[in-house]
Amino acid sequence: MINRHSALEILNANADSLPNLIEQAYQQRTKYKGNHVSIQLLTNVRSGNCTQNCAYCAQSRDSEAPIEKYHYVEDKKLYGDNDLVDEMHLARHCIGLSGIRFADDDIEKLAERIRKMKKNESTT
Ligand code: SF4
Repeated sequence: MINRHSALEILNANADSLPNLIEQAYQQRTKYKGNHVSIQLLTNVRSGNCTQNCAYCAQSRDSEAPIEKYHYVEDKKLYGDNDLVDEMHLARHCIGLSGIRFADDDIEKLAERIRKMKKNESTT
């Protein structure tokens, strides 16, 4: 387990330390996880048009990245991704949304879509 002091040392490490850092990360990963990986699928339910300006984010209001933008993803994509997770026995179906404010009605509509997927009524 990494502590605060070690985390700060890593953040402040210079480029010459990178090979050693990568080796240490490899040692930790193999110690705790071996060669096992969990594959997860992320569906971006709401993409782009965010009101915020997080500098790293392609969905921010200031970004000019050529990303697909939509208010809410279509059922075909959402349920299709969910079916793929089931068919491929992936570890998890994650759902992401751009933005910081969501109307109660929007949350309830998304919750209903998720309930439908959980009942496995989503087959396309
Ligand atoms: S989508 Fe999230 S990370 Fe991206 S700009 Fe908006 S609030 Fe920031």
